[in-house]
Amino acid sequence: VIEIRDITRDFPLGQEVVKVLKGINLDIDRGEYVAFMGPSGSGKSTLMNLLGCLDTPTSGSYVLNGKDVSKMSDDELAEIRNKEIGFVFQTFNLLPRTTALDNVALPMIYAGASKSERIERAEDVLRSVGLGDRMDHKPNQLSGGQRQRVAVGRALVNKPSIILADEPTGNLDSKTSVEIMNLFDEIHASGNTVILVTHEEDIAKHAHRIIRLKDGMVESDERKSVVSQH
Ligand code: ATP
Ligand code: MG
Repeated sequence: VIEIRDITRDFPLGQEVVKVLKGINLDIDRGEYVAFMGPSGSGKSTLMNLLGCLDTPTSGSYVLNGKDVSKMSDDELAEIRNKEIGFVFQTFNLLPRTTALDNVALPMIYAGASKSERIERAEDVLRSVGLGDRMDHKPNQLSGGQRQRVAVGRALVNKPSIILADEPTGNLDSKTSVEIMNLFDEIHASGNTVILVTHEEDIAKHAHRIIRLKDGMVESDERKSVVSQH
């Protein structure tokens, strides 16, 4: 699904240029379950924003599902984001005055679904993330874990080809974090490509591949050996 070649990302800072990503090469296949780790400031969020088409690289190429997105216009990127990517943020980023149902239904407006389709699908998705009884609650009427479930539902609703999550459990206690990770495990088991960032080894263990970044480069890339069932 993802092919990244020699990606760099520089940010101008006053007269200086900060080189944040310094040449990253990566292939991620359909159905993989990947965790990015690495010290604060190593470039994890910068890379996730590129993967999620929220940003474009300074140099290098990014091919997503066969399309080179590194040179696309903002409009083209917006369309790819809506169709192919589900993004989950550490701080949930829900609309505060909007019910769980409408938060989840929102991305389908841009995808052009009818109102009845939107409601039906949003209800299905909310049930699938365990919030069948919380559809009409607004974010401030939900717990942190429930808010993150709404955000995960919103990320899933347009059936994207990849789910990206930047520290999805960063604002949750450890019990709630495990529940959210169990949800990501299910999402992966149902055939999705899942890519997340975490600081915690216990969270990263859910993934089948751990890529460590250091100082804007890939330091290590390890696949969990699959233990035979036989
Ligand atoms: P954390 O674990 O703390 O979330 P991270 O690995 O996600 O860290 P990034 O957010 O990718 O780190 O930031 C990497 C570096 O890039 C930091 O040193 C940061 O200051 C710098 N940086 C990020 N965005 C910008 C920007 N828009 N302008 C200038 N520098 C930036
Ligand atoms: Mg970050």
